[in-house]
Amino acid sequence: MSIPVYLDNAATTKPCEAAVSAVFLNMAEDYGNPSSLHSIGLQAEKNMNEARKSIAAALVCDPACIVFTSGATEANNTAVFGAVRNYGRRKKRIVISSFEHPSVSEPVKYLEENFGYEAIRISPGRNGVIDADDFNAAVDENTCLASCMLVNNETGSIQPVRKIFSYAKRNFPECITHCDAVQGFMKLHMKAAELFADIIVVSGHKVHAVKGAGAMYIRKGIRVAPLLLGGGQEKNLRSGTESVPLICGFGAAVRALMPSIDTSYGNAEEINGYLRKKLKKLEYVTINSAAEETSPYIINFSIEGVRSEIMLHSLESRDIYVSSGSACSKGAKSSVLTSMGLSDKLADTAIRVSVSRSTTMGEIDMLIKAVQESYLNLNKLKR
Ligand code: PMP
Repeated sequence: MSIPVYLDNAATTKPCEAAVSAVFLNMAEDYGNPSSLHSIGLQAEKNMNEARKSIAAALVCDPACIVFTSGATEANNTAVFGAVRNYGRRKKRIVISSFEHPSVSEPVKYLEENFGYEAIRISPGRNGVIDADDFNAAVDENTCLASCMLVNNETGSIQPVRKIFSYAKRNFPECITHCDAVQGFMKLHMKAAELFADIIVVSGHKVHAVKGAGAMYIRKGIRVAPLLLGGGQEKNLRSGTESVPLICGFGAAVRALMPSIDTSYGNAEEINGYLRKKLKKLEYVTINSAAEETSPYIINFSIEGVRSEIMLHSLESRDIYVSSGSACSKGAKSSVLTSMGLSDKLADTAIRVSVSRSTTMGEIDMLIKAVQESYLNLNKLKR
């Protein structure tokens, strides 16, 4: 049997050994409830706080600013609903990019449709990057929340969040700035203070931990109303017994990967450059991810005349696993690509390849060969 070529790392990553061992240890041995006052509970709390420290170290912030959640979806929901509730009826404007992940855009839509908020959505240019001046022009004294992702999950485009948030905080300090940094975390160097974000959201399973643990950085002094009420865990911001095993797995993955962020980035850059060069030689391929201001971990391209899903399954039959748009959209036309001004033709035929720190050139060669063969075969079938 051939070894699968997994190129869907923006959807999820394979958990690393360190993560799996930490999950196992915290299930099999240190199984206490971190809120218990006895030593078994204290051990669980200690382990969880090690994870908190590791995530804080990766974001260069105080561990007291880290709140664990079940993942980025919960953290983004908490950020949006929790941030706007501070202002009651006073401030009703929300400014976001037009291609936020649904865990941001859906809560915003809900506030708009049910509670009279005014949502301003800023579209990116054809390169997939938001113009900071366009975004800033929409932020005013009535804005309660400005939200922009760091790296787009479908194209890899890197957004000028620092420029956007520093403007908002300087001119409207009460406006809460929120950054979904899921696709940038552990890939790009990030310092919480330098982003000017009041809230930063990250997810474990995108960084070689297991599914079900995420975290939010909440800057000191920022008030966020919780979504869940109950036992008051996580400083009252996220009631419910913490999933210590998953959280510790997240911490272990971050500790294991931290020292090699730069080498990994270098590897992804080389892979990305190689793949782009090969794709450019195929006259039926259009590369949708811009070469500049884009994370090398993600590349999006369209294959003329072959619908995304058909190509995805043809590649799958050759043991190569990619994505059409994002995993969350489950095959629906990508609103990210259409918001960049791409034609329906390009959006309907888009493929997302997302690499990991262990992707090799050999795997890229296999992908290219499979794309060529699939294209030829599928065209033969059409005749
Ligand atoms: N934001 C972005 C940019 C993502 O790519 C994802 C995962 N698809 C999420 C949020 C949601 O993360 P989780 O699976 O941890 O809820």
